[in-house]
Amino acid sequence: MAHDGQTLAPNVYDSEPIPEAARAEIDRLLSSGDLFRYTAPCDAPVALLESEFAALLGSRYALAVSSCSAALFLALKALDLPRGAKVLIPAFTFAAVPSSVVHADCEPVLVEVGENYRVDMEDFARKLPGAGAVMISHMRGHTSDMDAIMRLSDAAGIPVIEDAAHSLGTVWGGRNIGTVGKVGCFSFQSYKLVNAGEGGIMITDDPEIAARAIIMSGAYETNWKKHPGLSNSCAHWQNKLPLYNLRMQNLSAAVIRPQLPLVAERVEKGRAGHDRVAAVLNGSIHLAVPEPLGPELRAPDSIQFNLVGDWTDQQALDFQAAAKGRGITVQVFGLTEGNARAFWNWQFLGDAPELPRTRAMLMRACDVRLPTRLTEAELDYIAEAILDSAKDVRG
Ligand SMILES: *Cc1c(COP(=O)(O)O)cnc(C)c1O
Repeated sequence: MAHDGQTLAPNVYDSEPIPEAARAEIDRLLSSGDLFRYTAPCDAPVALLESEFAALLGSRYALAVSSCSAALFLALKALDLPRGAKVLIPAFTFAAVPSSVVHADCEPVLVEVGENYRVDMEDFARKLPGAGAVMISHMRGHTSDMDAIMRLSDAAGIPVIEDAAHSLGTVWGGRNIGTVGKVGCFSFQSYKLVNAGEGGIMITDDPEIAARAIIMSGAYETNWKKHPGLSNSCAHWQNKLPLYNLRMQNLSAAVIRPQLPLVAERVEKGRAGHDRVAAVLNGSIHLAVPEPLGPELRAPDSIQFNLVGDWTDQQALDFQAAAKGRGITVQVFGLTEGNARAFWNWQFLGDAPELPRTRAMLMRACDVRLPTRLTEAELDYIAEAILDSAKDVRG
């Protein structure tokens, strides 16, 4: 809790402690020095994490790597797209997503995103023909219309990669997000539901994609034999693909594994906390939290809302300042200098494309962290602080 005059604003940046069970395993690894995933003949922590994660999500194969960005890159490389292939991505995402496309020697095509933070399906359908792949980033855990995306992509024979970095635990029409497309990628970076500092994992049911990604992740010589069920495919690809060495090490797996049984509880708490704050914000005529889509059961650990009506940029900045005065950090995506989620800041892509819908959304969309550990009193403090700050500016 941080002091803010007489009030106590909750600290939304601190992490939760790592479960006690991680300590004994880390101690064991430190004592033996067995940190490399391929040293032990079997049951290395990274290998156990892969089988546990695949079981948790209901997919056939999982490959743990150094980050979600690495997983996105490997997923694209594993699709064996021709150099310069177009990859559709939502224009509202984190800079790591277009970066992974650039690393894979492909060309990102940015698709408009509506004020509900989801892919604009008209723009998607218009830009899809001729694409080599689709990479759907479920930004901040908001799921785009995966039924429509899969229908259009399947009809065109275009593979879909899901960037589920922020969607662990989200369910779409009864299916786990990350298992709807051909490949799903998740993050264990500290601001995600499972915290290992850094780390990522990709899942797929496709043995060829899994094998190719395993080889390229750095399973050199015969290390691929430690990935169950893929011998034929891995033997085929060994030495035919370059190694990028994006492996996860055992210490990370030791930190992640005891958190997996906590995912369901964190998802429940996160959703309840989000909906509690959303109900308060939606009581204001100046603020709106977009509804989830029908088939979507979300797993949020932050809240996004729009400033609705004729807010000026200055009023939006005043609102941010008023919230800050109450100890709450509100980020208007498009109004924070150099924001990595504003597409016009991705200068590595060249000139920013014309995307008026996404731009308008980013200029009025607000972002507030709501870690799942917050108490109801802390959530209520945040909700009231946001509401009062809007009142300060808009009356
Ligand atoms: C965090 C995040 C990433 C990047 O994950 P890393 O593990 O840090 O590489 C990619 N996409 C989204 C939507 C994210 O939230």
